[in-house]
Amino acid sequence: KTVLVTGGSGFVAAHILNSFLSRGYNVKTTVRSDSSAEKIKKSHAKYLSQISFAIVPDVATPGGHDEAVKGVDGVIHTASPFQMKVENNERDLLDPAIKGTMSVLTSIQNHAPNVKRVIITSSFASIIDMNKNPRPGYTYTENDWNPVTYEEAASSSASGEIAYLASKTLAERAAWDFVAKNKPNFQLATICPPMVYGPAFHTISSLEHLNTSSADIYRLMNGSEKAVPKTQYYAFCDVRDVGEAHVRAYETHESAGQRYFCTAGGYTYQQVCDIIREDFPEKKALVPEGEAGDPVDRYKVDNSKIKKELGMTFKDLKTCIDDQVREFIEIEKRA
Ligand code: NDP
Repeated sequence: KTVLVTGGSGFVAAHILNSFLSRGYNVKTTVRSDSSAEKIKKSHAKYLSQISFAIVPDVATPGGHDEAVKGVDGVIHTASPFQMKVENNERDLLDPAIKGTMSVLTSIQNHAPNVKRVIITSSFASIIDMNKNPRPGYTYTENDWNPVTYEEAASSSASGEIAYLASKTLAERAAWDFVAKNKPNFQLATICPPMVYGPAFHTISSLEHLNTSSADIYRLMNGSEKAVPKTQYYAFCDVRDVGEAHVRAYETHESAGQRYFCTAGGYTYQQVCDIIREDFPEKKALVPEGEAGDPVDRYKVDNSKIKKELGMTFKDLKTCIDDQVREFIEIEKRA
């Protein structure tokens, strides 16, 4: 069986690739360039005979995935920009996310009759309502939808962060609308992770150009933060668990038509700093100390659906951060 994973070069995608490859699937993955394909071959060298590539230079082009989807049995759509600082919200975030999702789904419908399951990597971005932050007393589940609109996100005053949240929300909504309207051959499920941390599976070429969520941890240990920053999103998931959730959703019949909030639970940057200071004494002087305790009364998150329906268990924050920080230290030593 062959699955297509879009955007195989990413931090999350590398773990999705590993989850499918280690279970024996053949994986075709889209990349924007040959050099990305070469990097993926290096990090997944163990499974070289199971990997193939399709070059899709622009994720948003209508028909751009027509060739890539041919002959596959399932599709995992994960390629989407995760950046909070961009020049143009529409061009750099909204278009690739929303039009990219439409391009993938339309190509499947027109050219891949064998595809029965499609899994989309969505996000807690499509669940949370930032206007109500930190929403004490509330518990987010997959029944919640971020109410952000395209107009808000595209306006010149909108931050890149709002545009990113909107790009994920509107892309996921567009996917569900596509399925409702077109009644395609395939069944859809979406995976919604919050901040994703943990060790990389892809090759990190430079600690200066980390993916957004890895950089979010590295800044807490490289001396660039003098005080513990205010936590932006009070929920996390280990990247290894996010990879596993995709393959479980793909293989579980009952996931058809479902959305899954893929989170290990709540966390704060203070907790991350405490873990690094305690477990890596050599870094202690670079990590802000902050204050003991947890002053902000905030929302909770509920992962009971994904545990029950996909049988997921989640790595805790200490394991996740320890493994990621250990990797950063090794890379620093090599540099
Ligand atoms: P990365 O930046 O590591 O990966 C992003 C991937 O998407 C890369 O393969 C990248 O390709 C591709 N991509 C980005 N923009 C475009 C574009 N305009 N056209 C084609 N391909 C593009 O980020 P993550 O691994 O963190 O993100 C992967 C997915 O996971 C995204 O859908 C993101 O929204 C989602 N997610 C991530 C979370 C996190 O905390 N990391 C949390 C929740 C969801 P290239 O290498 O060529 O740039």
